[in-house]
Amino acid sequence: MAHLTLMMIKPDAVENGHIGNILEKVTAAGFKIKALKLTQLTQRDAESFYAVHSERPFFGELVSFMTRGPIVAALLEKENAVSDFRTLIGATNPAEAAEGTLRKLYATSMGENAVHGSDSDENAMLEAAFHFSERERF
Ligand code: ATP
Ligand code: MG
Repeated sequence: MAHLTLMMIKPDAVENGHIGNILEKVTAAGFKIKALKLTQLTQRDAESFYAVHSERPFFGELVSFMTRGPIVAALLEKENAVSDFRTLIGATNPAEAAEGTLRKLYATSMGENAVHGSDSDENAMLEAAFHFSERERF
């Protein structure tokens, strides 16, 4: 389904009080919230969510960052959701993120970059199922 993407507001942005600001910008950009929760990933959750990066040198750091506090998970709907949301969040490295993007506004470093967005329609579906049961989706 090309109209859904999965967002996480990462622990750094939650700690820094940016949940409201980020949800405001996401909805102002035309995304509709189809599911939403505050939750905390276990080590196993984070290792499984980012399994594609398990051989990378930063994997341990990524897992410990993603599990250190609560996150907000949201399922978002919009035409071209995956690619439009990646545009809204900006480059992985906030130093390279375009003006006005969520990472330019709220990220502090490459590792602590405030927001996750799915990178394909297929992963959006897998990530939605990872975070939400059927009765949590609207
Ligand atoms: P995300 O999947 O969280 O939306 P992304 O798709 O922009 O981010 P990925 O390549 O999937 O980037 O990397 C996943 C996460 O791993 C990044 O968001 C970042 O937190 C971390 N990461 C990636 N590359 C590095 C790096 N070179 N050094 C430290 N952390 C990194
Ligand atoms: Mg990614």
